[in-house]
Amino acid sequence: MAKLTFLGSCREVGRSGFFLEEKDESILIDYGVKFTDPPLFPDMIPTDNLQGIALTHAHLDHSGGIPIILKETEASLFCTPATRDLSILLLKDMYKISRTRLPFSLKDIALVRRQYQATAYEETMPMGMHFEMTLFNAGHIPGSAMVSIRVNGKRVLFTGDFNATESHLNAGARKNLPKHDVVVTESTYARRINPPRDTTEQALIETVIETVERGGTALIPAFGVGRSQEIMCILEKNNLPAKYPIYIDGMARAVNDILVKHPQYLQSPHALQKAVGRARIINDNRDRTNAVKGGGVIISPAGMLKGGASHLYFKMLYDDPKNSIIFVSFQIPGTPGAELLATKKVDVTGRTFEVKAEVRQHHLSSHSDSRGLLDMLLKIPGEPEFYLVHGESESCDALAEKLEKKGRKAHVAERNEKIGF
Ligand SMILES: [Zn+2]
Repeated sequence: MAKLTFLGSCREVGRSGFFLEEKDESILIDYGVKFTDPPLFPDMIPTDNLQGIALTHAHLDHSGGIPIILKETEASLFCTPATRDLSILLLKDMYKISRTRLPFSLKDIALVRRQYQATAYEETMPMGMHFEMTLFNAGHIPGSAMVSIRVNGKRVLFTGDFNATESHLNAGARKNLPKHDVVVTESTYARRINPPRDTTEQALIETVIETVERGGTALIPAFGVGRSQEIMCILEKNNLPAKYPIYIDGMARAVNDILVKHPQYLQSPHALQKAVGRARIINDNRDRTNAVKGGGVIISPAGMLKGGASHLYFKMLYDDPKNSIIFVSFQIPGTPGAELLATKKVDVTGRTFEVKAEVRQHHLSSHSDSRGLLDMLLKIPGEPEFYLVHGESESCDALAEKLEKKGRKAHVAERNEKIGF
């Protein structure tokens, strides 16, 4: 009997990890971090008989602990080449910010490249004697995958984070998945319905155009991996007049370089290349001051106005009603972004700002919403049993309830719970 241990992302978002054992062999799927102080990782696993590690995608809540495992084993790391390159970039960035609080070094991060085993979508790879693994496009960020494992005559799917809706950056998740017996699925937006993508994009472009036409600057705080590139593509596709410059700050520059190298993971490599060609790169504070002076669009981390260069821009832009601050992701309660949306006042670096700039939110989700989750999961053939992870406790419960109402077996996984099949 195969045994599956849920190491993390149980009734929480963060530190994903799943340990699968069969006879004398084992494999690991994801090993992420949860950003608390100090950062939290899943419990350590025995690595003696580890046959491989499969990584769904580069986001640190899935990849942030991978070096801890690699330094203990020579087992290979299986993921798409885009995920490998983006993970290395994100891990190095995390190391730069929190090095003393991390249980690994830069040398351990280098093992991601050394132990990497190239894996393409739809290709089946053996992991030891007892496991076979196939990656399917998850449509979440470029290179993201669902991991399907065949073990003991059964098939288990780990969805990772997925988005069934296509965007300008990603083709949507693979439709028509093969038969599975067990599905471990994310539940992030199990309690939300997103407006149609086109409506959100149109609203975003309208806010941007109104801002620049009245001589203001539109600040779009956005995460550097995926979201920033998608906004660049949307502005490009909607023909934002060339007289309005688009500035890119932070990690997005390095991400652009990686994505252009891996065009097979993009919806339209040509569109991204064109968008990247137009963007002006910000290198230092002098560039930042100049960018604000001229008007235009500034895309800068962090997505919830929690640190990063977005603080510097915010302080230069907040008190002029010509400017706008446009959030493009969900703002977690308690973050400056959520506070600003609710009250138009915000505490940044210890000072309270009354904001005169226009504040908007146009949420471009990279996860399926409640309808998308249910639609995708119910279409998986084989009447699989569902295990819900990667969501707030209420979201996991909500998805379980919706699946049960459709007559399906669904269970919210608890941390370190073990199941057999
Ligand atoms: Zn993710």
